[in-house]
Amino acid sequence: MRAYSRPPGALTARVAVRAWGWLALLMLALAGPRVASSQPDEALSAVLLRLEQVLVSGQPDEYLALASPSADRDAAQKFAAANIVAGTTHAAVRERERTPIPAASEQAAGVRLIIDVLTEQGDRGTVSTWRLDLEPAPAANGAKTPEIARPPQDASTAPAPETPVDAWRIRDQDRLSRVEGLYRLRLDRSRQYLAKGLRIHAEDLTLSVHDGVAHMAATESGATALVIVGRGEMEFSPAPAAEKGQVELFAGRETLRTRFERAFVRVNPSDLRNRLTPHRFRPAGGLDTSALAKAQEFFDSQIDISFSLDLSDLSRDTWSLVPSIGDFLVDVDTERFDTLTYTRSQGDPEDISLFDRGRRKNIAVYASATRLARQGRSYDHAARLDYDVYRYDVDVSISPDRAWIEGRTGIDLRVRSYALSALTLRLAETLVVRSVVADGFGRLLTLRVRGQNSFIVNFPAPVPRGEWVTLQIFYSGRLPPQTLDREAIVLGPPPEIMPQELDGPLFEPEPRSLYSNRSYWYPQSTVSEFARARLRLSVPTGLGVVASGVLAPGGATTTPDPSGGEARHTYVFEATQPLRYLSVLVSRFADVTTRVVAKTGRRDRDAPPARSGVYYDAVSLDIVANPRQVGRARALGDRAAEILGFYQSLLRDAPYPRLTLAAVDDVLPGGHSPAYLGIVNQPTLPTVLSWRNDPVNFDNFPDFFLAHELAHQYWGQAVGWQNYHEQWISEGFAQFFALVYAEHSRDRRTWIRILQQMRRSVLQRPDQGPIWLGYRLGHLESDSRVFRAIVYNKSALMLHMLRQWLGDEVFFRALRRFYDEARFRRVGTEDVRRVFEAESDSQLERFFERWVYDDQIPRIRMTWRVASQETAGANATRLEHSVGNPPRDSGQAPTQSTDGVQRVVRVRIEQVGETFDLPLTVRLQYTSGEREHVLLRLEKPITNVQLRLKGDLRDVHVDPDDISLVEVVSR
Ligand SMILES: [Zn+2]
Repeated sequence: MRAYSRPPGALTARVAVRAWGWLALLMLALAGPRVASSQPDEALSAVLLRLEQVLVSGQPDEYLALASPSADRDAAQKFAAANIVAGTTHAAVRERERTPIPAASEQAAGVRLIIDVLTEQGDRGTVSTWRLDLEPAPAANGAKTPEIARPPQDASTAPAPETPVDAWRIRDQDRLSRVEGLYRLRLDRSRQYLAKGLRIHAEDLTLSVHDGVAHMAATESGATALVIVGRGEMEFSPAPAAEKGQVELFAGRETLRTRFERAFVRVNPSDLRNRLTPHRFRPAGGLDTSALAKAQEFFDSQIDISFSLDLSDLSRDTWSLVPSIGDFLVDVDTERFDTLTYTRSQGDPEDISLFDRGRRKNIAVYASATRLARQGRSYDHAARLDYDVYRYDVDVSISPDRAWIEGRTGIDLRVRSYALSALTLRLAETLVVRSVVADGFGRLLTLRVRGQNSFIVNFPAPVPRGEWVTLQIFYSGRLPPQTLDREAIVLGPPPEIMPQELDGPLFEPEPRSLYSNRSYWYPQSTVSEFARARLRLSVPTGLGVVASGVLAPGGATTTPDPSGGEARHTYVFEATQPLRYLSVLVSRFADVTTRVVAKTGRRDRDAPPARSGVYYDAVSLDIVANPRQVGRARALGDRAAEILGFYQSLLRDAPYPRLTLAAVDDVLPGGHSPAYLGIVNQPTLPTVLSWRNDPVNFDNFPDFFLAHELAHQYWGQAVGWQNYHEQWISEGFAQFFALVYAEHSRDRRTWIRILQQMRRSVLQRPDQGPIWLGYRLGHLESDSRVFRAIVYNKSALMLHMLRQWLGDEVFFRALRRFYDEARFRRVGTEDVRRVFEAESDSQLERFFERWVYDDQIPRIRMTWRVASQETAGANATRLEHSVGNPPRDSGQAPTQSTDGVQRVVRVRIEQVGETFDLPLTVRLQYTSGEREHVLLRLEKPITNVQLRLKGDLRDVHVDPDDISLVEVVSR
């Protein structure tokens, strides 16, 4: 039966989950409160108990006995035939919601119940959500006053109900949703097979069993779980070079090899033969009970981690789904690394992964060969979504003292897939989904993805492509605030310094609660797609709120707390420009300044193109601060205004019309920059901690940090990235903007020192992987400095090189065009390349290949000699354009040497390793003390260049400022 051999499409909700760095293995749980919100009612409980018995009877006719005389008998019969099936061995019914139905002209008052129903046929299960409309039975009409009685009991242990069952009858019913194909898998302990010589295959993975036995767990279609106990060897050798590098970081070699004792396999029964050789098993002669015990123990420890559904109070058993055809998972209990999990997951753009369970680290994540051939290297997670969210309407109250969030979020979405039967939304696991209601569908069944901050909403019938759906999600729970993760500085070892040893004022920082991109504090798309939003946020009086969007005129309104507690303040924010995620910061704030920042007077070299969408030529900058930061925040506002004006002149736009900059107390530097918002820590401790050594701390230009944060309004917020590989488009461009601002606002020496520091941070971390690895840089070692060195600094240096390569005029024109085209879109490296190629009319494929996708650094060897005349054979062009503030060449170089003969210097530069496209400065040092800088264009393995000398040459230096990403092998 096909319907049972694969989980419903909706349940393969893996896609985006792993993009955030966690293995996407299904573990679902019924969402919703475990206990019905209403008081138990004996008469109603009796109906549900009776319903359980009817379900187990397997007789549709018995259902009719529960129907009210006024019920539509045909409809009841049809419903019963579809939902009450022979062979049901157990049933459980749980009330989820109860609402009164007021009396109508011809109908008595009744009650509407929403119930979850589990039916079991042996070890196969189906869970569904029903709506039942009940009315008082005729005999009991008017006589019944429901008592508050004992809680409902389990059907199997409860005594047969007597009188109260007749108090209510079913007037109408509907099945709202259903999830089929659940199995209570059991290891077959009676059959043990020989596993000697067995091999398990998957792309880039081989498990060879030298000796041992196997046990299986099966559905009616065949084995779906397999446990092997014995002696075997695992070999994992990923094809992509970047993944080999990660495996080497993890295991010391590009191929991971280890012995193992046990393996647990999950597979679709029809796929088993594709994964195993030989695919027939020979039964073992006798039963090795010790091996059986080990197999059972491993089975028990793994079965509920993947492909499982937690049915909450409907069943205590573990219910498993069968993997889709093509999906595959094996947990390997290895000798060297504890449990490693390999998965093939069709739902993921990167469908192969190897995961270290104990440390929760992704070792390898990549696209299989066939998928790579089909989709290419670039992909957008959002392109795979089944729906597009257009607008969020968040209405929540936040109680920071209890870290409690409660409220409702409305989501306007449009169906993108052919037929949407279920969708996954992200929401923090600690927040309980009370209910989900959709226009036209009523209440919907929801399932929790366990351990993954997601839940699944099931529709009763597929929703066709193009349809609009508005969901209302009610939820509440405890949610600890997040740290300023985006740019937060992770300290190395915990500082040994006690606070009292430090100079400076010490105080308790003002408490604050930040809910933002890592909090999942409101139900949201699994991919941070652009959408508009309205936020209505209520907090205890005395606290202020800054959030994504523009605060509604009039500020906060005061409302009495409904439960009789203290009054609350409610703030409404409207975000009319698209944004990727919503953020809120609750703390005690003082308003500092408000001003309008227009672009600074930089003359545009080219006329602005026709652009669509809403552009702003000024931004309202509001500065707020924790009370102690008010003084410093004024100066912060001045600096921020200068930076924002400069950025507006670079791109001729402010993507968001308002920016609230909040200066907050903190012991350490840090910041966070959602759309419409900037949060900047004002460090209270002297920065003696390991922050000093951080790749993104520039001592000589403290405003670099602020400039980086403010650049995120453009890069990372207005311009989004397609998947984790492309995060450099946020961090690298922001870092590059701060670099350009440093050049604009400071002397050359300061700027050069920043470039030097960036370069050092990159060269100090060789072999960590390419920019393209995104968050996975430093992930295995839990060292976020690697990420900052490569994704921030190397990317910024790469953009600086691109600027040198193309010249200022072409580069900044291309930059503006890229920004205009990428605004409010999710883009990737290939989009950057396409625009810069078009605007410069040149090929940049190798440039990006080397700098983004590869982690090598060019290695060069330079030689030079002076000759008395020019010869043919030079193959390098001198890049005539100047970049930024060119180095001031000292003095007036003479036009001819003293003896009157024209001399040249022949410089030969060899790229010893891979050939890069590389702009490189050489400095001619004359005996007179004068210097001349020449920017060269390297694009061949060997570059020869002749430079006319303006005097007697003493020496030639490559990269004299130490700012280029090159390794000079020798002179
Ligand atoms: Zn950043």
